[in-house]
Amino acid sequence: MLQQTQVKTVIPYFNKFTKKYRTLRSLSKSSEKEILKLWEGLGYYRRAKNLLACSKKLVKEHNSRLPQTLDEIKKLPGIGEYTGNALLGLVYNKPTLAVDGNVKRVLARNLNKEEKKINFNKLVSLNSEKLFNISNNADFVEALMEFGALICKPKNPKCLICCLNKSCKYFKSSNKIKTIKKRMIKKKNYDIFCYINKNKKIALTKKNRISFLKNFNLPKVKETNNFSENKNWNLLKKYKNSISNLKLNINLYYKFSNKLPQNYNWYSLKNNKEFIPSFTKKIFRQVLTLF
Ligand code: SF4
Repeated sequence: MLQQTQVKTVIPYFNKFTKKYRTLRSLSKSSEKEILKLWEGLGYYRRAKNLLACSKKLVKEHNSRLPQTLDEIKKLPGIGEYTGNALLGLVYNKPTLAVDGNVKRVLARNLNKEEKKINFNKLVSLNSEKLFNISNNADFVEALMEFGALICKPKNPKCLICCLNKSCKYFKSSNKIKTIKKRMIKKKNYDIFCYINKNKKIALTKKNRISFLKNFNLPKVKETNNFSENKNWNLLKKYKNSISNLKLNINLYYKFSNKLPQNYNWYSLKNNKEFIPSFTKKIFRQVLTLF
């Protein structure tokens, strides 16, 4: 849940989720529909789908236990090198390190060397005796990530109170490396078409091929290079929307219809048991201003 998401945003979702699913087995018996409904509004819905698939595989193939090797863990849905190493360290106290953006920055600053010039896997394995010669590696894995987030922050690191400042080359150097990265932002233009009926329902489909929110409930969406006139459709609004590193320019069109297009279903904003992403809810709210 915390991937790309702030702690304060996650807390209510985490509480609701762990209240409903108290064990791995109970989670594994759930359905995608239920999980997504609980996750609604948190974004990055692939995480929820992977979590469910992962729980099913663990129960079915691993007797509800996390495997003990990185190769086996990486066969679980949604788990790669980073999460696999984090789990081995946190769950089994193994001498591994989850090298995320925070940890990379701490290591790079200590060497005062640009991240792209460092082979982090090699660095960790060459220094494993120094790094992991401790009794509780689980705490170490977590502490290093927190250290990067709270002390050795991207901007204004707290060097004066840092316990590493005596050995840190970044702190001592008059020629410090740059460690703030520019976020890559992609811009895209979309035309969105809503079929609406007199009961304030919108036709949505999961069969969309749009890269963001692929296979989730969306109206008809078409990527465009230039905004063109769409005959037979009424333009409701032009607006901007951001999803992760995507900046979207949207033209929202509507048409009243009683006929449901193929592969679509009618949805209402209220009393809806199905999961609807925030992106679609925003569209709903704008279309409802027509009534
Ligand atoms: S001294 Fe500063 S740059 Fe070095 S590890 Fe500590 S906080 Fe980071």
